[in-house]
Amino acid sequence: MRLILLGPPGAGKGTQSTRLMTEHKIPQLSTGDMLRAAVKAGSPIGLKAKSVMDSGALVSDDIVVGIVAERIEEADAKGGFILDGFPRTVAQAQALDAMLEGKHLKLDAVIELKVDEAALMARIKQRADETLKAGGAVRADDNPESFQIRLVAYRQQTAPVSAHYAALGELRPVDGMAPIDQVSAAIDKILK
Ligand code: AMP
Repeated sequence: MRLILLGPPGAGKGTQSTRLMTEHKIPQLSTGDMLRAAVKAGSPIGLKAKSVMDSGALVSDDIVVGIVAERIEEADAKGGFILDGFPRTVAQAQALDAMLEGKHLKLDAVIELKVDEAALMARIKQRADETLKAGGAVRADDNPESFQIRLVAYRQQTAPVSAHYAALGELRPVDGMAPIDQVSAAIDKILK
């Protein structure tokens, strides 16, 4: 199964991908996680991406498309994957379309978690508080200033990605404001 989860930061993409990954035994390909790993490893990509990520802006399409192209070639992704946080621009969506077409592969669903923007800041604060309580490190971009920039990037650059998939008849919206169990049930219904 090949899925894309779309939605603004804090919409619950990570929570749903983790669950779907276990249930369908396919990897979650989170470009945010891959970039954070590159930053941690101090790789050339990580060095380029760090300040952009900390600010809340988007890393360049070339970098992100390159890491996804490599990742979907890995053995564990051959049977399917969940893309979380990618594509985030129409150019990335077009690059993904071309990548899949080249391999004669199709997406099974593009699921968009629809959420009320006013609730997102509270969710991000909750995520940071829970991480701190669990003794973890809070993401450098989970602060009000970077979060605002992430939301603007979402509105300006990522919202058009939904229109791209809607035009292809592939977009499946889900109410992301519902309790987690209900969001999960709505997604499972689409995937049946
Ligand atoms: P995320 O964990 O998905 O919230 O991503 C964290 C940050 O990584 C984003 O704010 C961007 O700076 C960068 N990033 C992740 N995925 C992408 C992408 N598909 N395109 C551009 N930048 C990305």
